[in-house]
Amino acid sequence: MPDPLSALRDLVAEGGVAVLSGAGLSTESGIPDYRGPTGAARTYAPMTYQTFTRDAAARRRYWARSHVGWQVIGRAAPNAGHQAVAALQRAGLVDAVLTQNVDGLHQAAGARDVVELHGNIDRVVCLGCGQTTPRGDLDQRLRAANPTFAALAAAVNPDGDADLDDAAVAVFRPVDCARCRSGVLKPDVVFFGESVPPERVDRCFAAVGAARLLLVLGSSLTVMSGRRFVLRAAKLGIPVAIVNQGPTRGDAYATIKVDAPLGTALQALAHSLRSSVP
Ligand SMILES: [Zn+2]
Repeated sequence: MPDPLSALRDLVAEGGVAVLSGAGLSTESGIPDYRGPTGAARTYAPMTYQTFTRDAAARRRYWARSHVGWQVIGRAAPNAGHQAVAALQRAGLVDAVLTQNVDGLHQAAGARDVVELHGNIDRVVCLGCGQTTPRGDLDQRLRAANPTFAALAAAVNPDGDADLDDAAVAVFRPVDCARCRSGVLKPDVVFFGESVPPERVDRCFAAVGAARLLLVLGSSLTVMSGRRFVLRAAKLGIPVAIVNQGPTRGDAYATIKVDAPLGTALQALAHSLRSSVP
């Protein structure tokens, strides 16, 4: 039986690769994958768009946790897996990078034209006036509004939440939009219960349809927002390769499955293609 990584190398060497990445690609950067085999169990139910917009107490809790979590996510650095994807793109083998991650680490590694399916945690949008601002600006405003807020995160999940006790949450003061003064601020990410903007989905379908290989990296494909691209590739007869630790809900469609740590596997892949990779 051929080594799956060698088989993957042969397919990637032909170029025309569309990458679809998930939380498992960022775990080696210190951002836990709560769905993966080594991920810490999620303590809280994920925030839904409906709860966030209707419930001021839930928003306070969200921003208190997120304020702590940002100190980790804001400092996270790309790992060997992100570096390998960027190198394969520079070599002309990867045409499209689609990600379910909101951490911006593909771009930090040098990848270009990344489609962020679920947005990016480094931006904030006002639900009142629509203005988008950098998360760093909000971080400064939150620090100023909460000068004694020194709670530490016990754990951080990929959405940037952190565990905090209720007493710390109770004294946290969120802030509203600095421009319209009353608008509710929301991270510019797609919450549960919220749809990915259709033009973004179309862009991803177009990239998958134009690909010679769909390469899934570190996603268990649990949610349809990512799995639908695997289904589309399979329908079009485009081979699907999956590099992930543990089973995924796309395994039945995979031509090649590599079950290995992402950084090691992708570094080996880029290395084996080094004649093509600058
Ligand atoms: Zn506003």
